[in-house]
Amino acid sequence: MDGNDLTEPLPLQLLRDLQAAVGTDWIFSDPDRMVVYETDAQTAHSQAPHAVVLPATTEEASEVVHALHGHGILMIPRGAGTGLSGGAVALRGGVVVGTSRMTGILEVDHENRRALVQCGVLNNDLNAAVAPYGLHYAPDPSSQSACTIGGNVAENSGGPHCLKYGVTSRYVTALRVVLPDGRVTWLGGQGREQGAFDLAGLFVGSEGCFGLATEVEVALLPLPEAARTLLVIFETIEDAGRAVTAIISRGLLPAALEIVDRNTIRAVEASIFAAGYPTDAGAALVVEFDGVEAGLERHAEEAARCCLDAGAREVRHAESDQERMALWKGRKKAFGAMGRLAPDLLVQDATVPRSRLPGVLARISEIARRYDLQVANVFHAGDGNLHPNLVYDRRDPEEGRRVEQASAEIMKVCVEAGGTITGEHGVGVDKRKYMHLVFSPAELEILRGVKQVFDPMGLCNPGKVLPDGQEAP
Ligand SMILES: Cc1cc2nc3c(=O)[nH]c(=O)nc-3n(C[C@H](O)[C@H](O)[C@H](O)COP(=O)(O)OP(=O)(O)OC[C@H]3O[C@@H](n4cnc5c(N)ncnc54)[C@H](O)[C@@H]3O)c2cc1C
Repeated sequence: MDGNDLTEPLPLQLLRDLQAAVGTDWIFSDPDRMVVYETDAQTAHSQAPHAVVLPATTEEASEVVHALHGHGILMIPRGAGTGLSGGAVALRGGVVVGTSRMTGILEVDHENRRALVQCGVLNNDLNAAVAPYGLHYAPDPSSQSACTIGGNVAENSGGPHCLKYGVTSRYVTALRVVLPDGRVTWLGGQGREQGAFDLAGLFVGSEGCFGLATEVEVALLPLPEAARTLLVIFETIEDAGRAVTAIISRGLLPAALEIVDRNTIRAVEASIFAAGYPTDAGAALVVEFDGVEAGLERHAEEAARCCLDAGAREVRHAESDQERMALWKGRKKAFGAMGRLAPDLLVQDATVPRSRLPGVLARISEIARRYDLQVANVFHAGDGNLHPNLVYDRRDPEEGRRVEQASAEIMKVCVEAGGTITGEHGVGVDKRKYMHLVFSPAELEILRGVKQVFDPMGLCNPGKVLPDGQEAP
């Protein structure tokens, strides 16, 4: 399926079926309301869909998807649109099925540390709902105040604390899914988690290509008893990278190890998220340990020593919860603060072995210099998950081209260092052109085969993940 003709309106009978499924208020195609659905947070890819439909329940979603399938119309699942690889964009036309009305927390089973939620629940809202039971949902993308659990499932999202706790796939125990033809099924779940192919595991990270997840059962963890947070200041980002390797090689397991570089620090400190990071520093490293109180102090001291040995000029300790929250706010809102540097931002995402961080960071700086671009690094250093962000103005096509070329070089450098083309933001439409760097033709064939099993007609989020020769060079 190549796409739906964007100049053709949707068939009248389909519109009637969709209205019957969700009510007239929850289907729209007027340009003013659709404008936010044209892109996700990676604004380089943009296309208005034919229409947007917002079901409130699995049953409504099933009717919607069944009707679209019957008319051969493309279906693009969408959560909050915070994705950074163009995954929720209707590049080939079709109907966006959004989950913003599916916000129910259906069950909190605190005794078994599980919750069942509708897919449109925001990550932060799930945490607020389970906190009174002394529990939390561990995967914590920096966008957690805005992104949905369904989007997290589709992207297999990570976050600062996933160094210790692991990413989304570790916490999803069951999924209720509307398949691309409208059928509803459970994948995984109690009593069915073992002994067959791991279908829920297959769906996690499928980037909206296998159907719409409508309900998600997740495992919860007890809230950590205490935390110690350090802000370590370095003259250079390479020294900060060396400190990360030293901390991990020493056998310490922080909950988070996050680096922000000079450009990022300056943007954050000039914004409302200012956290007191020194603006003359080359980089800052946030180190956090959490868990039972005993031992935390010792681990924090050992990490501080590793940093000083790697050349840190200062180690600050967060003395209160308030100070700790301010430090984290500076880190988690850093992407937003970059709006101060330029109107557009290409948030890159790649992963390298931790020990290669200093060398790869130096290469990235050199590439940015050569293309006369400003790069701002803010990333999950403990996982080797880099985010070299290129700030630019897309109204200048020549600068846009340089950003594309620099991005391609950065991807190659990461792959050559033994890494891969994405750590957590997915392939979407943005990284399809790099898939051949990491997957052999045989692997790509297997991936296409799996997609075919879920979506034989190719109607579900086409043009994402799998290269098909139509991706930009
Ligand atoms: C400031 C900022 C910080 C970020 N930090 C992180 C981070 O630390 N870690 C991280 O991993 N990501 C991060 N992201 C990326 C993004 O927030 C995550 O990928 C998030 O999981 C996307 O959720 P969403 O609800 O916005 O999904 P969307 O952007 O709406 O969709 C993302 C993909 O999921 C599919 N999808 C959405 N809902 C469903 C569903 N119910 N069923 C099936 N498919 C679905 C869509 O088709 C699309 O392919 C960040 C983004 C921003 C803007």
